[in-house]
Parts: sequence; C-alpha cells; structure tokens
Amino acid sequence: MEILYKSTRGGGAPVTASQAILKGLADDGGLFVPEQIPVFDREPEAFAGLTYAQTAYEVMKLYLTDYTQEELKACIARAYDDKFDSDLIAPMAEADGAFYLELFHGPTIAFKDMALSILPHLMTTAAKKNHISNEIVILTATSGDTGKAALAGFAGVEGTRIIVFYPKNGVSPIQERQMVTQRGDNTFVVGIRGNFDDAQTGVKWIFSDNELKARLDKQGFQFSSANSINIGRLVPQIVYYVYAYASLLKEGRIKSGEAINVVVPTGNFGNILAAYYAREMGLPIHRLICASNENKVLFDFFQSGTYDRNRQFVLTSSPSMDILISSNLERLIYRIAGEDGEKNRLLMESLAAEGSYTIDEAMKRKLEIFYGGYASGRETKERIREVYDKAGYVLDTHTAVASAVYEKYRRETKDDTATLIVSTASPFKFTKSVIEAVNPSCQDTDDFVLANALSELSGLAVPGAVKELQNIPVVHDHVCETGEMADMVCGFLGI
Ligand SMILES: *Cc1c(COP(=O)(O)O)cnc(C)c1O
Repeated sequence: MEILYKSTRGGGAPVTASQAILKGLADDGGLFVPEQIPVFDREPEAFAGLTYAQTAYEVMKLYLTDYTQEELKACIARAYDDKFDSDLIAPMAEADGAFYLELFHGPTIAFKDMALSILPHLMTTAAKKNHISNEIVILTATSGDTGKAALAGFAGVEGTRIIVFYPKNGVSPIQERQMVTQRGDNTFVVGIRGNFDDAQTGVKWIFSDNELKARLDKQGFQFSSANSINIGRLVPQIVYYVYAYASLLKEGRIKSGEAINVVVPTGNFGNILAAYYAREMGLPIHRLICASNENKVLFDFFQSGTYDRNRQFVLTSSPSMDILISSNLERLIYRIAGEDGEKNRLLMESLAAEGSYTIDEAMKRKLEIFYGGYASGRETKERIREVYDKAGYVLDTHTAVASAVYEKYRRETKDDTATLIVSTASPFKFTKSVIEAVNPSCQDTDDFVLANALSELSGLAVPGAVKELQNIPVVHDHVCETGEMADMVCGFLGI
C-alpha cells in the first residue's frame, strides 16, 4: 500500500515519502504526517529473531513506500554499522525494576544518532529519486544533541551542507565542544544569543521566507531540515520500540501479546511520538509516560488540556529537554483532532499569537493513554544516586528524569506492567551533573578528569566520542543575535 504524506494544517497536495523528507516542513508551515498510519503485517513475535537492521527494514518499508527495497536496505546498511559501539545497536539493561533501552551507542553518544545516522542517506537518495540538482542545505536548531548528531551524519556527504544553530549558553561543555570541533568543509556551526526556542523559531522563519528560498534556488541551493519535524527522523525512531519489544519477548521477559509501558524523557516530543506511532501500528503498549524536567509545559498540558508556553524558561541539568515549544506535539494534536487540519491550524495559530491553546473534551479523552510527569533538578540527582546505589547502574540526567517520573507513576498507580525506560544519552555526555550525584565529594571541574572519575565509578570505559575531544582544535567560533540567523546562512553559502 502506498503511503503519501499530508500537512497537519490541511494545505497543499499530498507528497511522497521522499518528497516529504526533502522538504522537511510543509509549505503551509504544518508538519508532514502519513495519510494513514500503517499497521504491522505480522505479529510482534515475527520480529523476535531479527537484527536491528532487519527490524529497521520491516518497519521503515511500511512508511517509505516510494523507496525501493534496494534503496532502503542500502540506507540502513550505511547507517547501522560499526559507528555504533554495540553490535545490538540498541541494547537493553535491567536496573531497579525497569528495562533501560540504551539509545546512546552511536557516534555522538545520544539517541539522536538513531535517526540522524540514516537521515543523510534517506535524503541524498530522495534527491536522486526526485532529480534534484540543487545542493541540499540542512538547517538545524539544536538544544545540544541534535546538532552534533546531524553534523556527524552530514559531514562530507556529497550534495549537502549543514548549518547548526545552538544556544550559546544553553548546552553542556561536552556538547558545545563536540559541535565547535566538527570538521568538514560542508559544516557550519553558530552559537546564538538566545535559548533553544529562539533558535528553533529562527530556523522556522528562515524556512518560511519565500524570497530567500527563491534567491537560494537561483544559486543552486535548497533548504531542508534535520530536526525532528522531518518525517525522516520520526520513522527511524519507531524502529527501536519494535526492536525493544521483540527483544523482551525473545528473552522471555514478557509473554506474547503482553503490553508494556514506555517512559520517555521528552523535549520536542519526537521520541515519544514515535512510540505513539508504534502503538497505533499495533505494538502492545499500555501507557506512554511523558517525562519532563522543570520546563514542564507538557506535564501541565496533560493535566489541564491547556498548552501554555508563557512562562520562565529554566536552564536545567537535562539541557536537551529545555524546550517550551514541543514541535512534534502538533502531530499528536492533529491526530486527536480527528485529522482535521483546519482545527489543528487554529490551535497552532493561537500558539503562535498568544503562546497558548486549549483542546476540547473530546480531544482530551483521546489522551488517556498518556501520563505526564516531571522531575525537579533535585529529584533527578537523587534518582541518579539511588539507581547507582541499588544497581551500580549510572543514568545520565535525561534518563534520570524519566526514571524519577516512573517512580512517581509507580507509587501513584501501583501499575506493575513491565516497563521500558528510554535511555537517551550516555552519562559521559553530562559528566559534571552525573558525578555531582554519585560522588559529591569530587571537586574537579575539568571534563576529561571527570570522565575518568566516572569511568572508575561505573566500571565503563570512557567512550571514544569523549576521548577524541581532548586534543582537537576548535574550528567554529561564530556567535550571532537571533535576528541575524538568515545573514549567517547567506554568508556561509556565499550568496
Ligand atoms: C533530544 C533529547 C531528548 C528529547 O527528545 P525529544 O524527541 O525532543 O522529545 C531527551 N534526551 C536527550 C539526551 C536528547 O538528546
């Protein structure tokens, strides 16, 4: 069955998967969604013996229906290879009564690698299929992890350039170092004086600037996006939920047909949306537990039905979740609005104009499978300590937010359903906060000294991605105001 993609705001004609990936955002400012969410053509048991790459093929072929088998398999083979430091690609660990799905074994040690190692291949294949001769310019706003993962994915990929905007004072030292040392003539990294939402809004503005678009086209360029608004990010993220469920089955941790809970540390709502899609496809998931840090817009939304970004932006120890406008929530809103593009468009216009919107009762009822929770900085730290003391397992700060929220959920509901907690980053990426939690007496501030200390505490080797940062030169030192982002883009492209 061919799947086409339409805008969540109802505008424009449906496009193929490869066209949606190339465009990133729909012309009316909406996000691309499949006209219908495909369902699995077999039981989850059938996935139990498959490798990650085989699972990826079985899931992605249901969505990317205009890619040939050969094209899709080639993209998958180039993505999930020895760039990952685990043959399993997404291994699982059990600690303190939950299963942690470790999505940080890729080249930049955060879960963004799961999708961004394949997106460049999906995109260059899409360009070929659609006879695009323009160079593709990837514009990315990052709260810290997307930037590096996108840079690593696109660096040196012929026919592409990648520009990353990050909040100058809003990422961890390791995250910043990872980005500003990125090599590759086609890469460009800029710190902005603002937060992630400013960066994301700036990028969306550039995308919707038709004059700039025309100028680019004349010079042989066109924009696309590596942010999780791109459907080419979302689809590869569905894969690991299927893979994890099948792994639990294979290891006899759950019985055939048994439902599991999934807990996701959430920012832009991309990761948990992928779990929602997996559930809609037929994967047995009981509750989707959405964990926020102190920027708890989503928690409030699930409580009240009102999404309200008018509040203080808080810098937390889980910076990749410091977000007040969760872009991918729009895809869920569209769905619970009965796929009514007009209804969704009005809500999103209210968000842009007033900074808030409220959904009706009928929509709210469709959110019952979700549970929203949040954890403070103190609770996050305590949870890192507790899991380390009980199980000798070290969580990063983002995963710890999810774990702390799960503890609250378990106390509140007494639900003893088998539970998968999505582990989104290596603790070595947020070393300082993690060390503060497990060994407060350690007073060092140098990230590399801390990494060695964490290695001793955890019994894990310092990942290569951290070690290599020690001696490589900074090659990007651009900083700009949010109003200057378009100028930076033109400067880099020489137009
Ligand atoms: C991006 C990120 C998140 C948030 O994921 P979303 O898909 O934006 O909700 C959580 N943890 C880490 C480590 C991340 O990099």
